[in-house]
Formats: sequence, structure tokens, C-alpha cells
Amino acid sequence: MLEIQNLHKSFGQEKVLEGLNITVNKGEFLSILGPSGCGKSTLIHMIAGLESVSGGKILMKDREVKAPGTDRILVFQSGALFPWLNVKDNIAFGLSNVKADKKSQDRLGDGKSKKSKKDKFSDEEKEERVEELMKKVHLYRFRDKFPHQLSGGMKQRVSIARSLAMDPEVLLMDEPFSALDEQTKMVLHEELQRIWMDTKKTIVFVTHNIREAVKLSDRVLVMGSQPGKIIKDIPIPYAHPRKVTDPNLVEMEKVI
Ligand code: ADP
Ligand code: MG
Repeated sequence: MLEIQNLHKSFGQEKVLEGLNITVNKGEFLSILGPSGCGKSTLIHMIAGLESVSGGKILMKDREVKAPGTDRILVFQSGALFPWLNVKDNIAFGLSNVKADKKSQDRLGDGKSKKSKKDKFSDEEKEERVEELMKKVHLYRFRDKFPHQLSGGMKQRVSIARSLAMDPEVLLMDEPFSALDEQTKMVLHEELQRIWMDTKKTIVFVTHNIREAVKLSDRVLVMGSQPGKIIKDIPIPYAHPRKVTDPNLVEMEKVI
């Protein structure tokens, strides 16, 4: 799905990433674990197409990533919701911009479909997707609320639902739960595992929390800093959903 080849990044004189090689398989839940400042956000912004590459390549399904695209959607650390839109409209927001890929465009346009030739979803489908996602992240009751009326966990749920609404092939997550209290974090971990099992989306999840990486993902890439590079690649071969108290996971944490 994603192939990162000998990736380098510098900001002026500062080398931030040096020679990263990463392959992300379709349907994989990959965590990128590393200390603060090692370049995790820089890396995931580059995958999202929000930051330029200084050397090497990022390929998404064999095509070089040069700009942001709806095939790879980033969930920000802060959630980044629109304060003037309610829950439903925040989730619906991105959908208006999602265009069908070439193949599905060719299947459309029979004159009967209400879908415009370029839109991936018809108006009814958009409405249905938003309703379904609000239920999936347990926010249906709160659909008319605005971001300032929601807790941190709820805001992050809206953010995840908004990203999923666009039906990206890869969901990129940059420490999405780091600002949440432990209990909320546990609930959202379970929800994200369930969403991943349901949708089989490819997820690239950045975190500085070993426990979180081991609990959630199929594989953990450990980054070292100055400059950032991959120092370990560790598969986590246990069935989902997992609990942090699972002794196998506690053992895995020691390995990392
Ligand atoms: P992490 O997400 O792992 O905490 P970052 O990717 O945010 O790390 O930052 C890695 C390094 O790159 C830091 O030293 C940071 O100061 C530097 N950096 C990040 N973004 C920029 C930028 N836009 N301009 C200059 N330096 C930056
Ligand atoms: Mg960061």
C-alpha cells in the first residue's frame, strides 16, 4: 500500500530524518513509536503530503506522493475540528470534496444516478455514511452539539469519524489520544480496534507510548532520534481486540 524508500528530511541545517525504509501492507495496523522530537510528526506529515521530501521517495500504490489526497487522511493530535460546525456537519465536511477515482467514474454517469460524474458518493450515500459513522463512534445523541460542548474524547471521536467518512485507503494518526485521560484513552483504544477490525483499513499510528503501540498494532517500528531512523521492526502476533493487562503484551513491551 505504502512504500517509503530511503527517506531523508532536513529543516535548514538540521537533519531530522535519515534513510528511512518502510513498507506498509494493505490492512495493516502499523505503529511508529519514538521519543518526542525524533521526527514522527514530520514523517507522518510527509506521508500525508503536507510536508516536502528532502531525499528519497514515498509511494502510495506505486505512485509518488506529492500532495495531500483523500486516499491518505491524517487525524491530528488536537482533533482540529471546525468550531462553527456541529458534530454532524464536522463529520460531513470532507465528503463534499471526495471525488471518485478514474475507474469508478467510468462506471457512473448513466444519467439515472443522482451522483454527479465526479463525486464518489451520492447525496443519499453521504447522508447515510454520516449517520452510520455517528453511530459507530457513539456520537449520535450529540449530533447537534458544537465542539466547545464536547469532552476531549468526544472531539477526537468526531475527528476520527470525519476522517473515516472520506473512506481513505490509509488512515494516518498522529498521537490522536495523547491529550486524553487514561480512562478515556482506554475506551477509545477499544473503539479504534473495533473500527479497524470492521473496516480493515490500513492504519499508520504515531505514538510515544509503548503500551499504546503494543496494544493496538500488528507491527511496531521503533524510531531513534538525531537524526530520526528506524531502529527496530517488531511484529505483535496476537489476536485483537487486546487488553493492556494481557501478559503476552506485557512481555512484548519488554522486548521493545
Ligand atoms: P516528534 O513528532 O517525534 O515529536 P517532530 O517531527 O515534531 O518530532 O520534530 C522533529 C524535529 O524537527 C524537531 O527537532 C523539530 O524542532 C523539527 N521540526 C519539525 N517541524 C519543523 C519545521 N516546520 N521547521 C523547522 N524544524 C522543524
Ligand atoms: Mg509529534
